[in-house]
Amino acid sequence: MFPTDFDSILSKINAIHPEKYSKTRNFLNGDITYLSPYISRGVISTKQVMDAILKNGYTLLQSEKLIQELAWREYYQKVWQNKKEQIWDDLKQAQPGINHHEMLTSLLNCNTGIQVIDEQISQLYESGYLHNHIRMYVASIACNIGKAHWQKPAKWLYYHLLDGDIASNNCSWQWVAASFSSKKYYCNQENINKYTNTNQSGTFLDNTYEQIASIKVPDSLTLTTSLQLNTILPNTKSPILDLSKPTLLYNSYNLDPTWRANENVNRVLLLEPSHFNLNPVSEKVINLVLALSKNIPGIQVFVGEISEIVALYKESNMEINELLISKEHPAFEYYPGFKDQRDWMFPSVTGYYPSFIKFWEKCAQSTR
Ligand SMILES: Cc1cc2nc3c(=O)[nH]c(=O)nc-3n(C[C@H](O)[C@H](O)[C@H](O)COP(=O)(O)OP(=O)(O)OC[C@H]3O[C@@H](n4cnc5c(N)ncnc54)[C@H](O)[C@@H]3O)c2cc1C
Repeated sequence: MFPTDFDSILSKINAIHPEKYSKTRNFLNGDITYLSPYISRGVISTKQVMDAILKNGYTLLQSEKLIQELAWREYYQKVWQNKKEQIWDDLKQAQPGINHHEMLTSLLNCNTGIQVIDEQISQLYESGYLHNHIRMYVASIACNIGKAHWQKPAKWLYYHLLDGDIASNNCSWQWVAASFSSKKYYCNQENINKYTNTNQSGTFLDNTYEQIASIKVPDSLTLTTSLQLNTILPNTKSPILDLSKPTLLYNSYNLDPTWRANENVNRVLLLEPSHFNLNPVSEKVINLVLALSKNIPGIQVFVGEISEIVALYKESNMEINELLISKEHPAFEYYPGFKDQRDWMFPSVTGYYPSFIKFWEKCAQSTR
């Protein structure tokens, strides 16, 4: 499902059919792009995807739905840039109607009783991927029916997702749970059956939206559990740097093989234990990151802290700003040195927008 060599990734972009996408994207078997792990991990940019679609002859009108979805990614990244650490808390208002701050045992163990959800979570553990609509159902079941605060279930999902992106993840959970939107998102069994091509009945979701919004927590969602999530990082040696040259810093959100590709520099994939202690990810995610880094010639993998890279340069007479180069990203603001900007579809749209609609209006204006 997720090849890691750069040519295959580029072929995936060229295979996109935006019109089929817009008609089918909500269905479990819809014609979606499966590009999210590459976009999240900074292998490709949203702009690169948009440019390729337009270059392949599709008009803006034909591609609007997909470009809008890509814009959601940019929107959430910009929320993170502006809200910084607040992205870890309820962004607009306290999440209404919560009973606890734990993970639901039945989601973790794939036994909510909604068959397709249980199957999909079980597949998530195998594949590291979950369809957008299933993510929304899962978040709604956890937060709005099971009345869990979003943080723990979001952390659990992030751990497993190959495309884990703190901004898209935290904000999407908050959007479903109404701490970053004006109302909670509810699904019912009929909607689930329609988009997943199933026909289960008699479940706690087999009801009208009005009734579902007021049901008491079903028995299958009452048990909670504490999460134990650890990241297993590889053993590495200290990187061997040519101290007369700068070092380009790559990380789990920047694995772009085209970045300053012709420059004669050191290249280090920095996997900081401190980052993964706060944001644990599965072994599958780390394996994906390592595999994607193989597209970058000469890269050295280093498990250690940024301070250890800085220390390697202590003998050098050059300014640290000239020596360490990374790409701007809210997760790694603390890196010293020079930061290249990322590629955006709508670079002139900056700052915080309280809603996607307002952000999207500005994006549309910026292209006129
Ligand atoms: C509760 C929840 C948690 C989520 N967590 C993440 C996450 O950690 N990482 C992540 O990348 N996405 C997350 N998403 C957004 C979305 O589900 C995925 O981006 C999408 O399913 C990825 O599959 P795809 O590339 O085939 O998407 P497509 O439908 O083919 O979309 C193309 C691209 O548009 C962007 N996109 C599409 N839908 C969204 C969306 N709703 N929000 C933001 N960007 C979007 C992505 O970059 C995606 O790759 C989450 C959504 C929900 C509801």
